[in-house]
Amino acid sequence: MTEEQRLVQETARDFVDRELIPHVREWEAKGEVPKSFYRKMADLGFLGAPVPEKYGGAGMDYVSFMLLVEELSRGSSSVRTTVSVQTSLSETSLMWFGSEAQKAAWLVPLAKGQKFGAWALTEPEAGSDAGNLQTTARPEKDEWVLNGQKRFISNGSIADFVQVYAREPGTKGHDGISLFMVPKEAPGFKVTHVETTTKLGLRASPTADLAFENCRIPKDHLIGKKGDGWNQAMRTLNSGRIGIAAGAVGVARAALEAASKYVKERKAFGRPIGDFQLVREMIAQSAMEIDAARLLTLRAAYMRDLGQDNTLEVSMAKLFGADGAAGHGLGHPGPWGVRVQRRIRRRAVLSRCADPRPLRRHERNPETHHRRADPRTIGEEMRAPAWRPRRETVSSARSSAARLPRASFAKTSRRSRSWTSSR
Ligand SMILES: Cc1cc2nc3c(=O)[nH]c(=O)nc-3n(C[C@H](O)[C@H](O)[C@H](O)COP(=O)(O)OP(=O)(O)OC[C@H]3O[C@@H](n4cnc5c(N)ncnc54)[C@H](O)[C@@H]3O)c2cc1C
Repeated sequence: MTEEQRLVQETARDFVDRELIPHVREWEAKGEVPKSFYRKMADLGFLGAPVPEKYGGAGMDYVSFMLLVEELSRGSSSVRTTVSVQTSLSETSLMWFGSEAQKAAWLVPLAKGQKFGAWALTEPEAGSDAGNLQTTARPEKDEWVLNGQKRFISNGSIADFVQVYAREPGTKGHDGISLFMVPKEAPGFKVTHVETTTKLGLRASPTADLAFENCRIPKDHLIGKKGDGWNQAMRTLNSGRIGIAAGAVGVARAALEAASKYVKERKAFGRPIGDFQLVREMIAQSAMEIDAARLLTLRAAYMRDLGQDNTLEVSMAKLFGADGAAGHGLGHPGPWGVRVQRRIRRRAVLSRCADPRPLRRHERNPETHHRRADPRTIGEEMRAPAWRPRRETVSSARSSAARLPRASFAKTSRRSRSWTSSR
């Protein structure tokens, strides 16, 4: 790492420890992060991290940006999601495809953290199969008229500017798709549903369903070339993936830090459980896999800084990191293992024990829980094997780490160097 990159990492770590971690439980319970917190992030340039300074951003290189994202995610996956959607999707898309006038109108306030952005591709019938999107945009005089629905849109309910993929009526597949900017006050635009506290580990990140009913926006709200939407979406998604990879590293690191602390405190047979070899092996295995996930992520980020195509490397980093986060976050022994908590909760629900929290919608639905509601399957559920680390050796990870280039990454902006003064 360069000195600048280390500075970004330290600044973010310190910020997360002071401003985020002490409040995260309360915010997750409420399903909301206060705007005042995001204003503090904006003051540090974190809401426009990868955007050039001339457009109101911090001008960070991508390695620095991913180090920042990892730290944020260590504190809160919800905050990480909001920031990633703002930066890696909304701002990146405008940086790459927006005109200068659009950058001045939308990118600058987003990068300065004065406005929030959302990016809407997914629909009720178009998730993985995004080319099946049905939202239409037809030209009418000086306007575009949008009709359709979007689903699972992060920041959808708090966004000032929503970027929406829609197709020319009558087109199919990857053809005829374009990207449009819909300001929240556009007539015919509605937020129809918001999920917050129903999601696991992502409660303070609002995930919204949106509707467009003869929603009218000016002609100049088309972003990029008409009909180039599919290409734009794929490129932008690639930019979003790396943030998920870095986010996964942060989540896994938080689990490891909690685990390391717990095994020193928890005693069995007169000793801290961290003295037992198998527990130590689990911790060592986690540390090794997290490091490997981080290196995959930083390699992909470095390639982007060099202007190289990193599609393959980003996908590998995301897959490896997300698998690891699920394993480390959900599978560790002890009361902080989310899987354990979920099993206990599910058992309480199924055996009709009094659970102090209200049932979630899917738990109330007798159809989706018909099989599990059979008391014979409860024992099965509880006996399901816990996550076990794979058995690779620490030395093999060390040797692959040693093969990675000790590169001098691109320099961060002048603004990043001044961050020490604002800490
Ligand atoms: C918390 C959250 C935030 C999100 N934020 C956004 C956002 O900001 N903007 C946005 O546009 N979208 C967002 N999404 C949507 C996300 O991109 C979709 O969930 C994703 O594209 C998958 O779509 P789906 O959920 O409809 O699953 P489906 O496409 O219905 O897939 C269901 C299952 O089928 C499998 N499957 C599907 N196709 C294949 C195939 N060809 N081969 C093998 N298996 C397959 C999938 O792996 C999956 O297990 C968000 C989702 C979540 C959960």
